[in-house]
Amino acid sequence: MKLSDKFGRSIHDLRISITDRCNYRCVYCRTGTNGAAYAELPFADYLRMARILVGLGITKIRLTGGEPLLRKGIVEFVRDLAKLRTSDGEGKKPEIALTTNGHLLAEIAQPLKDAGLDRVTVSMDAVDPERFARITRVPNGYESVQAGVRAARQAGLDPVKINCVLLRGFNEDQVVPFGKFARQERVVVRFIEFMPLEEDRVWTPEIVVTLDEIVSRMSEYLPLEEIVHERSETARRYRFSDGVGEIGIIAPVSHPFCGHCSRIRITSDGKLRTCLFSVWDHDLHELMRRGATDEKLSEFIVKAVEKKEERHHIGEPGFVPASRTMVHIGG
Ligand code: SAM
Repeated sequence: MKLSDKFGRSIHDLRISITDRCNYRCVYCRTGTNGAAYAELPFADYLRMARILVGLGITKIRLTGGEPLLRKGIVEFVRDLAKLRTSDGEGKKPEIALTTNGHLLAEIAQPLKDAGLDRVTVSMDAVDPERFARITRVPNGYESVQAGVRAARQAGLDPVKINCVLLRGFNEDQVVPFGKFARQERVVVRFIEFMPLEEDRVWTPEIVVTLDEIVSRMSEYLPLEEIVHERSETARRYRFSDGVGEIGIIAPVSHPFCGHCSRIRITSDGKLRTCLFSVWDHDLHELMRRGATDEKLSEFIVKAVEKKEERHHIGEPGFVPASRTMVHIGG
């Protein structure tokens, strides 16, 4: 059995949200209060799901949250994931990546690398400490995140990627500062268009800073050249014309890439989601709890993936918001 959907897309990327807790309360993600209902599973349960999914053709696993570094035991979990072997004929360790806000990364970057982590993406929505605090609603986080980025580079988790969500009225003026940051720090900055997945329902088309606007703002600083990228890659990649530094733009709103989507997700409470914008989940953990065998779980996954949604409908009349917000799904 291999994972593919009725539109012929083959599925090989898995994201696992290992907690919905977070130590930041970014304005475009969470409410200012402790909104989320904390839901997380023992690592053994995520590991069993990952093992079955790797058996079905998953070759890349990204750990996310909430904030994944809040989970004690993440290093051991990465070590266990690194013992899995892909079923694509190559029998290699799956590629293991992490998306984090970076606040707790400095201490743990090297142990994670040693355990088998291949890559890290750090989310950072401003390159000045005050603006950073305004967006995250946490004072004094900026320095910790910088230390985390440096530690990740030193640990050899190269190239470190930085995710930045731009919001009009908050940080759209950060485009050029991020361009300079990418060049100075030798990190790949990836701008992500804001999607309607937030708890506070503040999304409007006007608040989204689009790919075209980002390219045009950056080009006023230095011209960009597009780099040829793989069709399944979510980011359009650009290098600066003098050859120093790279940025990416992930543009699900203005340039959707659903036709090449190769992803599925496990939420922190163990549900399988076939699209960020799904209006339902598939309760894999409930099936496990009821004692299902690996074969039964595999069949359940294969059937759910077959029905993967064709595309999201952001910006279209009658758009139905996802059944759960990013906090619960895991970015
Ligand atoms: N706490 C970790 C972090 O900060 O990276 C992992 C979880 S976070 C939800 C994962 C990514 O999703 C972050 O880069 C965040 O900026 C992005 N994100 C959150 N809400 C978003 C939204 N509504 N639209 C686009 N990206 C979003």
